[in-house]
Amino acid sequence: MTVHQIPNTLQLESFWMPFTANRQFKAAPRMFASAQGMYYTTEDGRKVIDGSAGLWCTNAGHGRREIASAVEKQLTTLDFAPAFQMGHPLAFEFANRLAEIAPAGLDRIFFTNSGSESGDTALKIALAYHRANGQASRTRLIGRERGYHGVGFGGTSVGGMVNNRRAFTSAQLPGTDHIRHTHDLARNAFSKDLPEHGAELADDIERLVALHGADTIAAVIVEPVPGSTGVLPPPKGYLQRLRELCTKHGILLIFDEVITGFGRLGTPFAANYFGVTPDLMTTAKGITNGTVPCGAVFASRTIYDGLMTGPESQIELFHGYTYSAHPVACAAGIATLDIYKNEGLLTRGASLSDYWRDALHALKDLPNVIDIRNCGLMGAVELAPRKDAPAARGYDVMVDCFNRGLYLRQSGDAFAMSPPLIVEKNQIDEIVSILSDAIKRVA
Ligand code: PMP
Repeated sequence: MTVHQIPNTLQLESFWMPFTANRQFKAAPRMFASAQGMYYTTEDGRKVIDGSAGLWCTNAGHGRREIASAVEKQLTTLDFAPAFQMGHPLAFEFANRLAEIAPAGLDRIFFTNSGSESGDTALKIALAYHRANGQASRTRLIGRERGYHGVGFGGTSVGGMVNNRRAFTSAQLPGTDHIRHTHDLARNAFSKDLPEHGAELADDIERLVALHGADTIAAVIVEPVPGSTGVLPPPKGYLQRLRELCTKHGILLIFDEVITGFGRLGTPFAANYFGVTPDLMTTAKGITNGTVPCGAVFASRTIYDGLMTGPESQIELFHGYTYSAHPVACAAGIATLDIYKNEGLLTRGASLSDYWRDALHALKDLPNVIDIRNCGLMGAVELAPRKDAPAARGYDVMVDCFNRGLYLRQSGDAFAMSPPLIVEKNQIDEIVSILSDAIKRVA
């Protein structure tokens, strides 16, 4: 394995790092140089276990030869082909393979390049669908507080994270609104798996229906388990109730499965885990094991037919990306699905989730820990914020973890955890023990 040496003289100014406090990072950079299996290697040669699957994406672990070979072969066979008015077989094959594992009926696949593009695409499909079906008044898009649906104009507007919205006030589309979030420390702290309390929060849809009129609402988008805001498993029964209310009012339900898709909960998708089927589902990340940018929106046949064959349908959807169904992404995606199938990774989490839950909840009595959450192979440990500096304690623990050999995604004062699905029990112990040491030291 080649380890690329990062020279000491490397200049850091030019790269404007996304979602990063640039000045703070550049003063004390943390650099990965290579990765294999469950581990990154830092530029100074230390092994760091990956507690967050990159950014929730390297579900089959790092450095998979099968994907590398497929990508290399594709680059030298057909490096690019348009999916507008032309086709290439891999695009159809990849869509068929995704349809095979899709929740029942969600087997029409629209390709994008990222979770953000999948979010905006699904919202636009919802609008176009209603219009094509004689319900052009349904233009309102509803998200949820504490939701994250990427950084496009649509995703930013229906998203519910204050920092992501505040700086871009005019980026918020008119006619968007939000239902309440379900995070309730007072009632649900330290819940194991799904919290008991809060299914009734789904009824918040009725408030927006009463306020705006159901005939103005196109869609509701939620993450089945919000990830970026610190892993917030839904209260028992909540998603079922949301589904019923959307159906009752003719509102399309969109699940953002960019994180929960591809085995994260021990089922292929969260829709399977919760037994709730949305009308549209957005994915990305694990679709290519994080290797080549790719995303996909899964749509119901009703929606596809409504747009492509309905009475007022357009003969095409005026939407798509130069790189939709990019041949290299399709090759990487098919190789990824082969790995998931051969290694049983889409359901492997089910046999580990109890171990994962118990390992995380063993941290309960550590200093400053105010909540621990888990669902499938997602988890979060939340610390009390310092009064003078919210997120500072989270940052200190994150840096201490990195120095001790654990990479975790910090989300304020919580740690969003999602190991690659190849994780072994002793590696879960390793993750939890390093985090435990870091929390103690920072306290
Ligand atoms: N939706 C969810 C639920 C996500 O977690 C993310 C990324 N963390 C996105 C959308 C956006 O994906 P991307 O960064 O690929 O645009």
